[in-house]
Amino acid sequence: MHKYLLKLALALFVVVGTAALATGPELSVRPAELSTPEAHGSDADEKARPGTFEVWLKGFRKRALEQGITAATFNSVMTGLRYDPDVIKRDRNQAEFTKTVWDYLDTAVSDLRIANGRKALTKWDKALSEIEMTYGVEKEVVTAIWGLESAYGTFRGAAPVINGLATLAFDARRADFFEEELVHALRILQNGETAPEKMRGSWAGAMGHTQFMPSSFAAHAVDFDGDGKRNIWEDDPRDALASTAAYLKHFGWIKGQPWGVEVRLPKGFDYLQADRADMRLPSDWKSSGVSAVNGGLTDTYGNASILLPGGAEGAAFMIFSNFAVIEKYNTADAYVIGVGHLSDRIKGAPAIKKSWPRRLRALSKPERIELQERLTAAGFDTVKIDAKMGPLTINAVRRFQKAKGLTPDGFPSLGLLERLRAL
Ligand code: CA
Repeated sequence: MHKYLLKLALALFVVVGTAALATGPELSVRPAELSTPEAHGSDADEKARPGTFEVWLKGFRKRALEQGITAATFNSVMTGLRYDPDVIKRDRNQAEFTKTVWDYLDTAVSDLRIANGRKALTKWDKALSEIEMTYGVEKEVVTAIWGLESAYGTFRGAAPVINGLATLAFDARRADFFEEELVHALRILQNGETAPEKMRGSWAGAMGHTQFMPSSFAAHAVDFDGDGKRNIWEDDPRDALASTAAYLKHFGWIKGQPWGVEVRLPKGFDYLQADRADMRLPSDWKSSGVSAVNGGLTDTYGNASILLPGGAEGAAFMIFSNFAVIEKYNTADAYVIGVGHLSDRIKGAPAIKKSWPRRLRALSKPERIELQERLTAAGFDTVKIDAKMGPLTINAVRRFQKAKGLTPDGFPSLGLLERLRAL
């Protein structure tokens, strides 16, 4: 989990890491690129930090001690640490693959993950029910995050966290972010919450059942089982699950409100209204012909917008403020829908009804850059050329579609790119 300062609002495509691609349906399906902030400036990759790892370590020691890490802690944890080139390799390789939202959901909300979610919920029902009572977050939602982050505790990550964070902090790409995380990790050890050899997680420092970064742990983790320690690393998941609920509560989770509801759009729907900034009450949407596919909608859910993660041909969702709360875990739309839909399915709700335009594929990174360059050159400014299909790019796509008499759903398909190439 990840308090990313950076909002990577990938509205349509999820970029997944090599780890996620190489694994089976029960491994973590957190879109890895989204788990850490991006480098500032495109040339950061090339910028090597001056000096050796040892030189950095010496400088970092001073900075850590200034922030309250004792010399004893620092010496015992950091002595003998080595730079791990594999961590950097994984960091560099992770943004190369893309998945469509439907490919992502096939894995994230597979039948196996639903079945295992129900089993996990049954096994830990007493604790999860108490957690729901305490924090006001539905047990199925907490279970779904657990399912996506670590396959219900099965894949919590075996990498030594300190070593990975130190390597990434030495690396110039996102040094400040990882150095701060490393200080938090040292403080966790100094406080005796766990031992260095037990502090294991992902190569980028996400730890335990629900993959907390050290800063998130510091701010939000709780001791739920009452043993005086916040233990998210070992087999017993209760502290980690309660910490996840505490995190969602902190960011404004509203119990009883759905994350989103699949909806049917009326014929002639104005696709420009499918915009996160266009917030209306469910009754207002209903009066313009939008209806729930399953069950009802009530204004007590609050304001909602319409989301089309697969464009006009795919499923449409009416999303509520809880959607933005799950985004605090990970900003990718596909991840949020994955958590939300998995929680619904664990509860027994039906599958997403509308089929996806599966003949379409995700654009590669070079294609996404080309799309942004061509849109901008054609007068539909994407503001940034960063391969990220965020709101600015999606709005540029919409404006282009509208100008060409196409359905303005903002979906960056290969067909759209080909149209731009033909200009
Ligand atoms: Ca505990």
